[in-house]
Amino acid sequence: MSVISNDKNYVANTYARFPLSIVSGKGSLVWDEDGKEYIDLSTGIAVNTFGVADDVWLAAVTDQLGKVQHMSNLYYTEPCSTLAAKLCERTGMKKVFFSNSGAEANECAIKAARKYASEKKGADYFNIITLKNSFHGRTITTLAATGQDVFHKDFTPLTEGFVYVSPDCPGELEKAVTENKCAAIMVEVVQGEGGVMPLSAEFAAEACRAAEKYDLLLICDEVQIGNGRSGALYGYMNYGITPDVVTTAKGLGGGLPLGATMLGDKVKDIFTPGSHGSTFGGNPVCCAGAISILDRIDDELLADVRRKSEFIKNSLAGAEGVKSVSGMGLMLGVETERPAGEVISDCMERGVLVIKAKEKVRLLPALNIPMELLEKAVETLKEVCGKK
Ligand SMILES: *Cc1c(COP(=O)(O)O)cnc(C)c1O
Repeated sequence: MSVISNDKNYVANTYARFPLSIVSGKGSLVWDEDGKEYIDLSTGIAVNTFGVADDVWLAAVTDQLGKVQHMSNLYYTEPCSTLAAKLCERTGMKKVFFSNSGAEANECAIKAARKYASEKKGADYFNIITLKNSFHGRTITTLAATGQDVFHKDFTPLTEGFVYVSPDCPGELEKAVTENKCAAIMVEVVQGEGGVMPLSAEFAAEACRAAEKYDLLLICDEVQIGNGRSGALYGYMNYGITPDVVTTAKGLGGGLPLGATMLGDKVKDIFTPGSHGSTFGGNPVCCAGAISILDRIDDELLADVRRKSEFIKNSLAGAEGVKSVSGMGLMLGVETERPAGEVISDCMERGVLVIKAKEKVRLLPALNIPMELLEKAVETLKEVCGKK
């Protein structure tokens, strides 16, 4: 039975998949059904932090798998408590709620913000400011948080209580805050799905100022840029800001589903038994893998991420067919003269996997991609961009 025809017949038609079935991989190399090799600069959309079937991660996961794979949140398990402690130590946040995806991590942040505002200012202070062009997930509430109409179409009515402002207009923010009774401001410091667009330092500063002045929670959605990808452990650290809530998922589990909502001082005790929960959240196997990932995201690795980022930017700057490169660390968006879709297909044909973000070619290599593979992949991308 063919993988592609079964998928087309029986899997819900929500993805425009590439005509490629990956069967295995090691690190930054993956192989398809015919044994063709690809250098992977997509990492399952910033999920496979250290590539495919990484030895250290694999050992951590399989060791835990042989001990206990799941016990529910009715009991304590060591990986969950250790991971929470490590995340708090590394960020200064105070408590962590674990879930299974980015959308769920954001749902938890939204619930935390609503409960905080309701208790402190009144139940009518439920609005959350998010940014135009943002992406926060696919559930009805995180779709509502997502400031892009294309995602809303056909799914209304969405959860009420979201107000969108332009990241290009820091001045709009205070107006939105004073015209609506607000609980929080939620931002991605680099908009991933929105085209790999970093927030300006001005907007970040203004968001902090408004949060302080109006007692709003500052929520950073670090689902994509978090966990070392920006060249700092979390993206907000590049801006010198201190959020009240940090959400993450994708790269945290290194390939297994794990979401985390980190709660700062103001909201560390916002949840009480019964006010939130998740059957799978904090799963010991996912957490054991995540501990191994987090432990390896040290200063040396982060410096290496920044060096590799510079290498990519310098190689592509001024290259034929390349208009610009945006982003941070190893989350980069390449604006190309040729349509991004064509560049991506040509790269695939030549053995390099890259993906799209709006009309850009998005690069999300593993944080430990060997330099020689990165050089080879960037060379291929350059050739393809310059093709007439
Ligand atoms: C991917 C993503 C999400 C959604 O994560 P899922 O795990 O797909 O639910 C939320 N926010 C950002 C910034 C993302 O990149």
